[in-house]
Amino acid sequence: MASRFNTFIRFSAVAALALVVFSAAPRAALAQAGVTLQDPRAEVDFGKTITFRAVLKSTLPIQQATLFFRSAQETVTHVETVLPAQDGAVSFTYDASLNLIPPFSEIEFWYQATLSDGQTYPSQTVKFFYTDNRFPWREATRANITARWYAQDDSFGAAALDVVAASMLAMQDFIPLSLDAPIYIYVYANPSDLQATLSLGGEGWVGGHATPQAGVALVAIPPNANPAEMQTKIPHELTHILLYRSLGEKYKNLPTWFLEGMASMMEQYANPDYAYALQSAAQKGTLLSFGDLCKSFPPDAGGAYLAYAQSQSFVTYISRTYGVSGLSRLINAYGDGLTCEMGATRALGTPLSQIESRWREDALGQNVAGVALRNLSPFFLLLALALLVPLWGTVDTFILRYRRKHAAAKSK
Ligand SMILES: [Zn+2]
Repeated sequence: MASRFNTFIRFSAVAALALVVFSAAPRAALAQAGVTLQDPRAEVDFGKTITFRAVLKSTLPIQQATLFFRSAQETVTHVETVLPAQDGAVSFTYDASLNLIPPFSEIEFWYQATLSDGQTYPSQTVKFFYTDNRFPWREATRANITARWYAQDDSFGAAALDVVAASMLAMQDFIPLSLDAPIYIYVYANPSDLQATLSLGGEGWVGGHATPQAGVALVAIPPNANPAEMQTKIPHELTHILLYRSLGEKYKNLPTWFLEGMASMMEQYANPDYAYALQSAAQKGTLLSFGDLCKSFPPDAGGAYLAYAQSQSFVTYISRTYGVSGLSRLINAYGDGLTCEMGATRALGTPLSQIESRWREDALGQNVAGVALRNLSPFFLLLALALLVPLWGTVDTFILRYRRKHAAAKSK
């Protein structure tokens, strides 16, 4: 019994020793060969500075230390050399007024230290949000969508979330609704507060703004504004976020006119000024070609406004003519990286330029033949002249029909 007891004691002692050795081994290795952070934090003075602080802990002396940080929306990683104090404390202040970081984006940072063994070790990574902390944000959340505002009472937040719910209901046939990740809608009380944020983030003011990758929308809605403002701006920005969620990185392949046309079509309140801008441009012959709106919109306010008006009307026309299935084929074709012209051909069986002619006729009452003739390049005119003799009869009929229709249109 005693010997069995002794064996037990001995076995236990060996086991305990082994446990100590095994559990101590990784800890010793980590302590010797790594660097850890104590009390890491980032102090944000929005639009001005971000100060990164931490105490670097290592068992071997640190020879050199570096801070790395990047926002989720950036491909660039910022690299800064830091000088640890006696206790390992490091601090670096980043000038956020000169070096732009998207507002509300998530930023991650970590350190790397070269120790006296000559090896370089990374620390753990720490994340935080670059939140606009100039305002006392209030918030309300419904179904993973959070509205934040500062200028009004709680009924304002509830109204914003009601608009979100109504928008999603209207949107669900067109775009898959994904609420797995949170969505944040920041409502500024005036355009200049928002403008400051956007120019801090390197963007010009466009009435609203979305960082779809971050699930963040920014809008400016003044206190006591007409409800139409909310019904226009919130669904627009929400569309950008949900389209990104459904397409991922393919979102970037969508032509600008298509993206903005979709977002504008989802606005719950039809902007009456768009119709005026369209008619006026049609009469003056200053309509923009959608081929020129594939990559971007004109930088001037007037041109951009017309581009939004046209895109909304055009995408609405496509949706009405080719149905929701046509629209989703177009989303896929463009998402796959096809050009403006080819994407339309694959998805709708018609090149973009032809759909544009039909839209001009349908939405603006422009004569499609006239539009087609104007679109003819000098090369095609020469070709037409070469073929003139055998084709004369056909061309003649065509022109006659055009003239008759034109005259009829004028007399209306
Ligand atoms: Zn937009």
